[in-house]
Amino acid sequence: MARYTGAVCRYCRREGEKLFLKGERCYSEKCAFQRRSYAPGQHGQGRKKVSEYGTQLRMKQKAKRYYGVLESQFEKYFEMAERQQGMTGENLLRILESRMDNIVYRAGFANSRKEARQLVLHRHFTVNGKTVNIPSYLLKAGDKLEVKSTDSEKIKSAVEANSARPKPVWMEVDPDHMTALVARLPERSEIDFNVEEHFIVELYSK
Ligand code: SF4
Repeated sequence: MARYTGAVCRYCRREGEKLFLKGERCYSEKCAFQRRSYAPGQHGQGRKKVSEYGTQLRMKQKAKRYYGVLESQFEKYFEMAERQQGMTGENLLRILESRMDNIVYRAGFANSRKEARQLVLHRHFTVNGKTVNIPSYLLKAGDKLEVKSTDSEKIKSAVEANSARPKPVWMEVDPDHMTALVARLPERSEIDFNVEEHFIVELYSK
């Protein structure tokens, strides 16, 4: 599976906000965005007028980076969102939220989506009792995620580190038993992500 492995802090600097891609480091003084909150590159500190297309592109890039999804997969999610009833932009975010790596991260079983992806690939979780090792697996309302490797030091330390991080209201997380039930899929207002998804819809509708 192709995946970008470069310096992800550039993404936060490019998008002008913290995207929390590196787990604990994001909450520390070592955060690159806190130290240099301007865009990377030679012209990063210059002021630029952003075109409508530029804004649409930035929103799409931000969403892709936030959820750690590559272009082709993101396009597939958009097509999927278009086929669903309701607002395409909201549907798109709901699909991204229901990815297994996101659920693992939101439940606090990993410090970042990237770490969640690795843990899923290493078969540390079950969904409804069956091992699932596909980070892009989409969970539905009623699905129960469970940590299989409850003795994993990495997962235990993530649970502890994330104990104070608020958990989504649409999930029922039980950190003691290391389970997370997707009670329902989220409403837009319940998705903690600063993005204006209508720009993404406009971009793909051209
Ligand atoms: Fe972004 Fe985290 Fe890097 Fe800070 S440490 S710039 S929040 S990825």
